[in-house]
Amino acid sequence: MQFISADKIFDGTKFLPEDSVLVINNNSVKEVISGKLIGANTIRKHKGIICPGFVNAHCHLELSHLMGKIPQQTGLPEFAKQIVTNRNNFTKEQKIELAKIQDGLFVANGIAAVGDICNTDDTFEIKAKSKIHYHSFIELIGLNPAYAEKQFNSGLELINKAKAFNLSASFAPHAPYSTSLELIDLIGRYNSSNNLVTSIHNQESLEEDRFFKGLPTNFLNLYSFLNIPIDFFKAPNTSSFQHYYSYLKNTKSIFVHNTFSAKEDVELFENPYHYWCFCPKANLYIENKLPNYELFKNKTICLGTDSLASNNNLNLIEEANTILNNSSVFGIEEILSALTYNGAKALGIEEKFGSIRVGTAFLNLIRVEENEIKLFESNLLG
Ligand SMILES: [Zn+2]
Repeated sequence: MQFISADKIFDGTKFLPEDSVLVINNNSVKEVISGKLIGANTIRKHKGIICPGFVNAHCHLELSHLMGKIPQQTGLPEFAKQIVTNRNNFTKEQKIELAKIQDGLFVANGIAAVGDICNTDDTFEIKAKSKIHYHSFIELIGLNPAYAEKQFNSGLELINKAKAFNLSASFAPHAPYSTSLELIDLIGRYNSSNNLVTSIHNQESLEEDRFFKGLPTNFLNLYSFLNIPIDFFKAPNTSSFQHYYSYLKNTKSIFVHNTFSAKEDVELFENPYHYWCFCPKANLYIENKLPNYELFKNKTICLGTDSLASNNNLNLIEEANTILNNSSVFGIEEILSALTYNGAKALGIEEKFGSIRVGTAFLNLIRVEENEIKLFESNLLG
C-alpha cells in the first residue's frame, strides 16, 4: 500500500480538496482519503498535478505512414486527393510497422485510450496487443444512396473482424459530403440499437457548406478526380450540419473538427450524448484555421489528434496547448476535462478511463506553467 499526493489532484472533472491523498494498491487507486488521516511522512508528494490518463477521442492510427507526406494548408478537397493518391504507396508491413511505433508512443505521451477511425483491419492486431484501450470506429464512405446497403454490409464484415480480435467497434460515417443520408441513417440506427457511439468529421472546411448550399466548390473537382459521378446529388441549400443532423439526433455522436460550424449549427441541439471534438493542429495543417471556440463555451468538448497525415505527432497535450495558446474561452479545468473525462464519456469508457476512482490504473503527473500544460511523468503507476 502506498499513499501519493501532489500540489493538486484533478479527478477528471474537478480539482479535489487540497489535502487529498490517493491510496494505491496493486498499481491502481484503492481509495481517495484526506491527508489528515495519515502521517505526512508516509505520503509521497509530487510537484504538479496528478490527473487521469488522457483520452484521444479522434485518431487514424492506420494513416501513420503518411507523416510528412501530405502538403500543408492546401484546403480539405486537395488534402483528400493527396490522401487517396498516397495512402497505398506503402506495403501493409510498412504501414503496420509505422502504426506500431505510434501505439508505443501513446503511453509515453500519457494517453490511456484512443477512439480510432479504421477503413481497414491493418491495425487490429496492434490494438489487440496494445497496453492501452482502443475503440475502433469502422468508417463508411459512399455518397450514392443506391450503394448504402452494400457499403453498410461490407462494414459489418470489418466490425466482425474487430470483434474477433476482442476490440470494441462501432460504425462512423466519414463526413456529410462523402456519406449519403441513407448510409448515415443505417449507421445511426445500428449504433443506437447496440448502444454504441458514432463519430463524423463535421464542417472541417468552408467548401463543405458550399457543397450543401449548391455553390461552386472544390469538392466537385475532387469527385471528378476520383471518377465518382455525383449527378444524383441535389444540394439542400442548408449548412452541412443541418443537412444530416436529424439522422444522428438520437445517436450518441462525436462531431469532429467543427472548424466552420456556425452559431445556428451549434445551437441546433442540446443532447447530453453529443460531443464536440477538436483537433486544432490538424485544422492548422489542412486549412490554417481554428474553430470559433466561443460557440462551444459550456458545451461538452473533447480532443483528438487526427492522423499523422495532418499532424507531426499524436501527442494529445499539444492539441490542448494549441487551444490554450489561441483562445481564452476555456479555463484550465475545462481543458483538463476535455483531455480526460469528456473523451472517456464520449467513447463510453468512463467506468475505466478519464477519471480518478477505485481501480484507476493510468495516472499522469502534469504541470501548468504560463498557460501551457506539460507532462512530467506519464502512467505514474505503470
Ligand atoms: Zn479524422
